[in-house]
Amino acid sequence: MDPAPANRETADVTADLDRILRFSPSVAEQYESEHGRAREADLRRNALVGLLLYNVYNVTGWFLMPDIAFWALAARLLMFTSLALLLVWLIGRVGAAQRERLMLVGMVGGILPPVMLFWLTQAPLGAYSFAEILLAILFGNIVLTLRFPQAVIMTAISFAVGLLVLAMKAELEDGLRGALFLHLATTCGCSLYANYQMEARRCRDYLMGLRARMLRDIAERTSKRFQDLSQTDALTGLPNRRALDLCLDTWLAEHGPLAVLMIDIDHFKRFNDTRGHLEGDTCLRRVAETLAASAFGRVDSLCARYGGEEFAVVLRHVGPAEAAAVADDLVRTVAALGLRHPGRGDGARIVTVSIGIAVSGGGRSGERSDAKAALLETADRALYAAKQGGRNRAVLGTALPLGLRRAG
Ligand code: GH3
Ligand code: MG
Ligand code: MG
Repeated sequence: MDPAPANRETADVTADLDRILRFSPSVAEQYESEHGRAREADLRRNALVGLLLYNVYNVTGWFLMPDIAFWALAARLLMFTSLALLLVWLIGRVGAAQRERLMLVGMVGGILPPVMLFWLTQAPLGAYSFAEILLAILFGNIVLTLRFPQAVIMTAISFAVGLLVLAMKAELEDGLRGALFLHLATTCGCSLYANYQMEARRCRDYLMGLRARMLRDIAERTSKRFQDLSQTDALTGLPNRRALDLCLDTWLAEHGPLAVLMIDIDHFKRFNDTRGHLEGDTCLRRVAETLAASAFGRVDSLCARYGGEEFAVVLRHVGPAEAAAVADDLVRTVAALGLRHPGRGDGARIVTVSIGIAVSGGGRSGERSDAKAALLETADRALYAAKQGGRNRAVLGTALPLGLRRAG
């Protein structure tokens, strides 16, 4: 397993960045997936701008090195420009690491011709063309912003060949040679330093952002987990009363028809008395599983533990007939489990449930809290009627007029 994600959650962001500003492999992959396209576009645009500037030196070359102006034109326009265009075409057609290496190849390929031309020219003003080498180094480090490892290589090669050509060009005055050497050294040093600063900022900003995103994800996951726990019944794993309330609030706000089935295990006290509390808990879990499985077959339903040995099933977009059919089905399914209940005292020797049904007609009348209370109250009264009627059955309740409910 890749240890990097754990690292990023706990440790300093620099754990994912080495001394030459390379991301760890997993971060590099993620960075590329997020910023690869933008990098490609930048490189393409900057390379074309660079190529344009590069060819401006065909004009200056005409004045500074007229002795080899034709060769200079051929080197810049035919050789290097075609190589550069090929590299620009390849950007986006190769992987990220390959792309950055190609940019290094392009920069070194761009610096060698002016070095050669500076060495070859015998023209009196030829030494001024050294500026072209310096500008190419600045361009690679600051405008193209080669990645830092490639910037180091490009700068080192440029410095070495620059030094070599200064040493080999015998006709240069020593004073001028020294001055040009200083130009070369300061340009290399200063532009590499600028490249390091920009690259370090880019990498650190990305890692800080990545870390912030990860911490936010962890916080969201933790809060979701706490929310899930606070809305889950520990014994049965069903949604609890709080979840039921939230669900009713949400679905009632939609003003569609809604049915509530209030389900109560028959003579459960006697079950505990004869088979013990632990068996009682097991029985609660079995009934819960059965109710949930039957209810969850429907897309818009919620099965919750209401409290004690009572459960509630909420069915969305369901009218009285369908709600009654579902309730009858639940009554039959629990009885079909055949859970032994020796101490009932009413002849039946298995666990059964009674169900009270309430259906809201939808519409906008009344407060939502009133509608919820009315539904639960109606279901409760219907449940009571089911118990009175002999248990192991479902009864459809009718809502009391609002005034009567308040009075009662
Ligand atoms: P009725 O048919 O009228 O509903 O009778 P009943 O005995 O089921 O109803 P009653 O309200 O008298 O008793 C409910 C029993 O449910 C009492 C209580 O011990 C039991 N009970 C409630 N919660 C749990 C629980 O989490 N585990 C167990 N084992 N029993 C519970
Ligand atoms: Mg009860
Ligand atoms: Mg009961």
